[in-house]
Amino acid sequence: MPQDLTRDLMDLIERGRDRQLRLAVTGLSRAGKTAFLTSLVDQLRHAGLEARLDLLSASRKGRLLGAQRVAQQDLGVPRFPFDQARASLEQDPPCWPEPTRGISELRLKIRYRPSRQAWLRPETVELTLDLFDYPGEWLLDLPLLEHDYLSWSQTQFDEAGPTRRAMLATWEREATQLAPDADADEARLAEISELYASGLRQAREAGFSNLQPGRFLLPGDLRDAPVLQFFPLPGLANWSQERLAALPESSIYASLARRFRYYQEHVVRPFYREHFRRFDRQIVLVDVLGALTAGPERFEDLSQALARLMQSFNYGQRSLFSRLFTPRIDRLAIAATKADHVTPEQHVRLVGLLEALLAEPLKNLKYANIPVKAMSLASIRATEAREVKHQGRITSALKGTSMDGEPLLTFPGEVPTRIPSADFWERQGFNFIAFRPQPSAPGALPHIRMDAALEWLLGDKLE
Ligand code: GDP
Repeated sequence: MPQDLTRDLMDLIERGRDRQLRLAVTGLSRAGKTAFLTSLVDQLRHAGLEARLDLLSASRKGRLLGAQRVAQQDLGVPRFPFDQARASLEQDPPCWPEPTRGISELRLKIRYRPSRQAWLRPETVELTLDLFDYPGEWLLDLPLLEHDYLSWSQTQFDEAGPTRRAMLATWEREATQLAPDADADEARLAEISELYASGLRQAREAGFSNLQPGRFLLPGDLRDAPVLQFFPLPGLANWSQERLAALPESSIYASLARRFRYYQEHVVRPFYREHFRRFDRQIVLVDVLGALTAGPERFEDLSQALARLMQSFNYGQRSLFSRLFTPRIDRLAIAATKADHVTPEQHVRLVGLLEALLAEPLKNLKYANIPVKAMSLASIRATEAREVKHQGRITSALKGTSMDGEPLLTFPGEVPTRIPSADFWERQGFNFIAFRPQPSAPGALPHIRMDAALEWLLGDKLE
């Protein structure tokens, strides 16, 4: 039997027995995917031993026996670098793991005792958990499938606000000089594409999220490939669709349109077809606190990016997605990460803000009857909550270590529960300080509510 077929068959059998789950983790860059997956694997590897997973029912009841890494099946997908990530946390001083930049995978076998023992039912059972990590930026490309090159080019200008447009100024100067019907010069198109990509990168560095095409920021293995050498063409307003369609293949317009189509067909679609469609469950991580610190324009931009990203999960009837693919994600979690950056009584507010930020997408998901839960968590807790006396009053504060090794005791601010008004930004803002991870100690990594996330994402499979 061909190897692929055997693999699919084995998959099917395991699934039929409900013993396999494909769980995907995503989020925009720096949302905390690498930290989350590192902690998740670490918690499960210490399950049944020192891991603190009380909110995971199988663990609380002592039925979770442990987990082991096993060889993954998709040999074409890079392995999630768990060992490197764990090693950087064990360094002295500890470092945050190097973030992943493309899709990666890791397979665990989890052993547990079923909740009900029955005749002929084995005493212990295994669940195969396939974990995937991929950039949320790739999901920002879904709406691009709805466009042709002309309509895409036109919408790209409407979306960027003044700050972002300024970052693309050098590119815009060059691109506006291009006549759509002139003969394409490959080298020049490559140069102008690079200016476009570098404008997008600059915007990302400056904290913007709603950037497209996604692979320009995280090219994975496509770096320098001509498929990434296109950009929206300014000045198409004076051209009719017919005139543009009649231009020769060698023209600038036709060359860019060809690459755009290639990008749709060979980059965006295959990700959905080969990976996304096969995920059973998904967690979307959001760095709400980082965006709060970055100010109103970035915060609004994050909100737009999330609305776009969440379209991939909105497969109610008539959605763009349902017309293109048949996904099977049957449960979704949305988590505000790095909750250890605020004091414990702020955690509820953080979830409130996350829900406000995602109000529209959450409404759509509920309507499409896809179970979704919003939560806050810290994959790797870097701080400790403390009570301090300040001006005669007891207030809660956070104790941690700055990235330069300075001991810190801070109160970072109140998290608003709604989308902040102009007044919030002027009056208060939010002071997000990066903390160094705590020195390594025996046992599982310290966390906040990783067990709640695990319970929602796989608790029912451990019954
Ligand atoms: P990715 O780009 O989505 O993979 O993001 P990472 O997992 O690399 O996280 C980006 C950065 O956020 C890390 O380098 C840490 O500085 C910070 N971070 C991530 N998770 C946590 C957490 O649970 N607590 C704290 N304090 N910081 C975190």
